[in-house]
Amino acid sequence: MSISRNKYDIVIIGGGMVGASLACALADSTLSIAVIEGLDPSGEWPADSFDIRVSAITRASESLFRRLGAWPAMAAMRVQSYEAMDVWDATGTGHIHFDAAELGEPNLGHIIENRVITLALLQRLRQHDNIDYRCPVKPKRLILRSNHAQLQLDDGGLLQATLIIGADGAHSWLRQQAGIEVQERHYQQTAVVTTVQTEHHHEDTAWQCFLPSGPLAFLPLPEGRSSIVWSTSAEEAERLLALDDADFMSALGEAFMHRLGSVTGVGPRGAFPLKGRHAKEYVKPHLALVGDAAHTIHPLAGQGVNLGLADVEELAAVVLEAHHAQRPIDSFKTLRRYERARRGANLLMLDAMGAFKALFSNDTPGLRELRNLGLNLADHAGLLKRLIVAQAMGLSTLSTSLSGKP
Ligand SMILES: Cc1cc2nc3c(=O)[nH]c(=O)nc-3n(C[C@H](O)[C@H](O)[C@H](O)COP(=O)(O)OP(=O)(O)OC[C@H]3O[C@@H](n4cnc5c(N)ncnc54)[C@H](O)[C@@H]3O)c2cc1C
Repeated sequence: MSISRNKYDIVIIGGGMVGASLACALADSTLSIAVIEGLDPSGEWPADSFDIRVSAITRASESLFRRLGAWPAMAAMRVQSYEAMDVWDATGTGHIHFDAAELGEPNLGHIIENRVITLALLQRLRQHDNIDYRCPVKPKRLILRSNHAQLQLDDGGLLQATLIIGADGAHSWLRQQAGIEVQERHYQQTAVVTTVQTEHHHEDTAWQCFLPSGPLAFLPLPEGRSSIVWSTSAEEAERLLALDDADFMSALGEAFMHRLGSVTGVGPRGAFPLKGRHAKEYVKPHLALVGDAAHTIHPLAGQGVNLGLADVEELAAVVLEAHHAQRPIDSFKTLRRYERARRGANLLMLDAMGAFKALFSNDTPGLRELRNLGLNLADHAGLLKRLIVAQAMGLSTLSTSLSGKP
């Protein structure tokens, strides 16, 4: 059990999936770390209830969770591997199927409830004596001094830190306080999310159908349930939320072309307006942003938190290297290395998802035929398929994919 103090090497604002991972990644050191989290995480839930928020976790992110020592707790709670991905265009014949067995892999990734991920990380975080977890508390004021930063908290506390990291999500308080601007992309879509039971088993497959109004995903969960991410216009999302359960299940089954038979049960529904955001700067002296605080992306390829976890790996490596070499962990020079390593990669993914979303939302006949042809060609192109799947699993670099070693 750690003892709360007021002076730290690092204060992380936000103890979500990314902030908690970062704290664990930095913990194996002599650094003193505080995580401040505004919302009390729910530690318990009824056994038969599923979180409406889930994440497709890539193999690369699984490997990070294993190294952080959090994977066994997640696996013991509830995770679902997916062994195949099936993607098709509802307006034509375009179809592509990825199978882990064809690639010699045990699976393509896991679908995990966000609350399971967070709870496992918090359990791990609490085992480190050099991390203080302060919750529920929020920062009220940021004061930047020449050699440190101060945070006034809403419980009256005052923290001093060499480095402050914003892992406080899409509407990051730290990003706003630091005057860091964001570039926004309006996807003009809202994601309706829920958990369903279907007539047929999901076959451990992640299914995604591109409708003209947006992608509809059925992601496999334990006990044969599926997590739904249905991206559509804001008006249609409002209409779907207002339907009673029977009408919603019927609309969902029809939109999904009854691939898993009828939808036979549905849990609570929620909606998330989708917007792409990219911070113009990730770092300033004494400050860094990670995860959704730095970038948000359309969920169609399930990459958001995986990009945040890649930020975690890079930022932790840069900070730990500086600390071991007795160089300042908060200097612009040190932190810029993290920004240089991650900003380009995140921008590439944001651009790719933007283009993908635009391509599949466009119903111009010529384009529709072209993308259907493209999907079918990609389905038969071994190397291209390997590259796509390696990227989706977070294992990709062009050279390793080309050499056949993911
Ligand atoms: C519908 C949908 C589906 C998605 N599916 C996937 C998927 O399949 N795979 C994937 O990789 N990604 C997915 N994502 C993206 C993923 O959910 C986010 O990328 C991820 O939640 C970001 O984690 P984070 O820790 O950076 O931010 P958050 O999850 O937003 O966590 C931020 C934390 O900071 C706390 N906080 C905020 N402000 C303050 C403050 N001022 N003081 C103290 N604490 C504060 C919050 O309470 C929270 O705990 C999806 C997103 C959506 C909307």
